[in-house]
Amino acid sequence: MRPFDYHRPENLPQALATLRDAGDAALPLAGGTTLYDLMKIGVETPDAVVDIHRLPELDHVGVAGGELVIGAGTRMARAAAHPAVMRDFPAVSQSLWRAASQQLRNMATIGGNLLQRTRCTYFRGGAPFPCNKRDPGSGCAAIGGRDGGHAVLGVSDDCIATYPGDLAVALIAFDAVVDVAGPAGARTVPIAELHRSPGDTPHLEHTLNPGELITRVRVPFSDIARESTFLKVRPRESYAFALASAAVGVLRGFDGEVRECRIALGGVATRPWRATEAERVLAGRPLTAESAREAGDVAMRGARPGRDNAYKVELGARTVAEALLRAAGSER
Ligand SMILES: Cc1cc2nc3c(=O)[nH]c(=O)nc-3n(C[C@H](O)[C@H](O)[C@H](O)COP(=O)(O)OP(=O)(O)OC[C@H]3O[C@@H](n4cnc5c(N)ncnc54)[C@H](O)[C@@H]3O)c2cc1C
Ligand code: SF4
Repeated sequence: MRPFDYHRPENLPQALATLRDAGDAALPLAGGTTLYDLMKIGVETPDAVVDIHRLPELDHVGVAGGELVIGAGTRMARAAAHPAVMRDFPAVSQSLWRAASQQLRNMATIGGNLLQRTRCTYFRGGAPFPCNKRDPGSGCAAIGGRDGGHAVLGVSDDCIATYPGDLAVALIAFDAVVDVAGPAGARTVPIAELHRSPGDTPHLEHTLNPGELITRVRVPFSDIARESTFLKVRPRESYAFALASAAVGVLRGFDGEVRECRIALGGVATRPWRATEAERVLAGRPLTAESAREAGDVAMRGARPGRDNAYKVELGARTVAEALLRAAGSER
């Protein structure tokens, strides 16, 4: 492992000043469950890390001004078990419970989860494999290679890596925002604008500027968030990333027709994926196995499968359909 400096600021202003002074050479360190992994295998090579894991300003969960507010340094397990999250945002709570393992959830944070990097084996595999994300312009070993876990939505000719996180999928469905602090002051970024599509710059994964930290996540309370669920399909029931996931919410009128619905997908796309067209397909119609499946098909429209991952097109559609029926309490 390459030597690096370790900074442990006492508070948020100190952390921001240390990051500002270090510029591109430093990375924030939260729980370290992704960052240290990537440093050990030489994929991340910062000159310094700034430890924000114990900053008091970032560790909180609560309710303020009609919103759920979760500090970026809050451990995943604490946020998942908070009564307001479980009662009013079941999809958010479930997305956290179904991520990683209990040990990881006790250590890993909300901010680190949102900005975790892809699990593409070529990205993590190092020098023998060309990878535009790790080494811009070198090519992409996954395209035409072993792509069974890779994305089918939002892919580009330069990168097909799946966004691996669960939480961001639930957050994008319910219009969450992140508050950010940095050298130019504070600003707010909708979750829908936090992650980038790979395009021809797959090494640029998010829209934060150098030296910026996510300080908290805010999610508006709504009836639809209360009627939500998160369904994750994975190779085993624990400790595995999603092959496909869906965060959905459904509100129905007196006649059973869909008044409003939210659909977001994970495991199949290069970034957290909101399926607004699919949401529109259901509006004003009864929710049945057929209409839910139609919404699933629309959600997967535009999918671009490769060698081994065509199964994700069907799996994604089925996952959306099943999640909708579960959210509406009418699963088969
Ligand atoms: C075996 C294994 C299985 C896993 N399974 C799942 C799973 O099923 N679902 C899932 O969602 N995740 C899964 N994960 C990923 C895990 O959830 C992440 O490693 C974790 O959430 C990262 O949080 P952290 O606090 O440890 O972040 P770190 O590793 O400390 O940081 C991750 C990245 O975020 C940046 N960062 C951290 N905090 C901030 C901030 N506040 N502002 C700006 N940048 C920040 C860091 O610089 C770094 O680039 C798994 C991980 C492992 C090792
Ligand atoms: S899919 Fe993306 S991360 Fe994986 S090898 Fe290709 S460029 Fe690298």
